[in-house]
Amino acid sequence: MKYYDKLIFELSSPGRCGYSLPENRWGTSTDGLPDRLRRKDAPALPQVSEPDVVRHYTNLSQMNFGVDSGFYPLGSCTMKYNPKVNEEVASLPGFASLHPLQPEWTAQGALKLYYDLSRALSTLTGMAEFSLNQFAGAHGELTGLMIMRQYHRLRGDDRRTRVIVPDSAHGTNPASAAVCGLSVVQVRSLEDGTIDVEALKGLLDDTVAGIMMTNPNTLGLFETHVKEIAELVHGCGGLLYYDGANMNALLGQVRPGDMGFDIMHLNLHKTFSTPHGGGGPGAGPVGVVPALAHCLPYPRVIRRPDGRYALMTDKDSCGRISGFMGNFGVLLKAYAYILMLGKQNVRNVGPYAVLAANYIKESLKDCYKLPVKGLCKHEFVFDGLADTSSGVTTLDVAKRLLDYGFHAPTIYFPLLFHQSMMIEPTETESKETLDAFIGVMRKIAEEAKSDPELLRSAPHNTPVGRPDETAAATHPVLKYEDM
Ligand SMILES: *Cc1c(COP(=O)(O)O)cnc(C)c1O
Repeated sequence: MKYYDKLIFELSSPGRCGYSLPENRWGTSTDGLPDRLRRKDAPALPQVSEPDVVRHYTNLSQMNFGVDSGFYPLGSCTMKYNPKVNEEVASLPGFASLHPLQPEWTAQGALKLYYDLSRALSTLTGMAEFSLNQFAGAHGELTGLMIMRQYHRLRGDDRRTRVIVPDSAHGTNPASAAVCGLSVVQVRSLEDGTIDVEALKGLLDDTVAGIMMTNPNTLGLFETHVKEIAELVHGCGGLLYYDGANMNALLGQVRPGDMGFDIMHLNLHKTFSTPHGGGGPGAGPVGVVPALAHCLPYPRVIRRPDGRYALMTDKDSCGRISGFMGNFGVLLKAYAYILMLGKQNVRNVGPYAVLAANYIKESLKDCYKLPVKGLCKHEFVFDGLADTSSGVTTLDVAKRLLDYGFHAPTIYFPLLFHQSMMIEPTETESKETLDAFIGVMRKIAEEAKSDPELLRSAPHNTPVGRPDETAAATHPVLKYEDM
């Protein structure tokens, strides 16, 4: 163990101090606070010097894996590199110091940005209007389903309470439908990984509110029957919801609005850069076709004929979905990213993401089992090692990757296979990085044969080894005293 891996309490020495503040000229904020509410003793904080604190937190930050520390091919998560200019834009004082309750006329710049970003997203997706108030992809799904329900209700069609979700869908899809009070009906996938259209036909009737689809789906496959599916679902009076969390492959190439979708969400914190992970701030804007615009959540930002921007509430709205106007910092970063790419380069995101995914897939398919063959879009799924004789699992491979400085892919999702390894390299990696990853994956496949124990006990080089995940979930140690 390195000296500074110690806990900050262990570095503490009585009387040591890490700060020197200027003399207080304003009195304390506790002036006027009754005696009984005042603290009698100083809090039991570690007493450490400034270098101790800085080293402690810097070292802590390095114990974690991030997209800034290495390749992060986490499928369905689009861990692309986040340009630092986005951070600079998001921290401009004029934006960072805004108060959500200040009068509209004093926040025209921010409202214009909100409006312009929603226009850009409409152009990219073929949707008529966007609300940017949602805090995450799942939050966008819930909003989209509320819009779907509201649309049917306003037409007096209360019987539509079923939502069709493919078995390959992201787990948030059925969860959001359930939270919205709708019942979930699963439609199965065919051998080739796409939706079984014949099975879908059997599920369609006048109780169907709509279908939720991801295209390309979680296997990285484009649902080529999407036009036919749209006709079928619309034909029975239902709506089509598009999960656009990972729209990387389609950016600037194909638009959900042109495929027949009525409602969709985007994950700005995936497709449009901005850092994410660990539940950090996100944004899940929701777009709709013209016929559903009146159902969007309020407040909406409109541009008045005199060029000013204002907040608007529609009486038909599905309701308020967030306290104010979403995670504004995330919106700023996505806006900066779109402008930085520009109309031409935004078209390159998809082809490069697709090329990178296919390059890795083709380079590794002799060592890892590829259940669905053919061209993929931005991601693909291996079903564990091709040679399973050693008993080495996907979990072992994932842990061993960390020893080589790569983050693991998404594992054990989608649920369609037992040893899923979902790999999404994104467009921001160089060929050299992809080659290095391929080399390590091949080496691990070799190790599985020559020294399986090495993999079963991995990782060996990380600050934390292989934790007991069940114990960590059932008996979490949350306090220093409990360690
Ligand atoms: C990430 C993801 C979501 C959920 O997004 P959150 O921001 O994590 O709520 C939904 N669908 C798909 C396909 C995703 O990849």
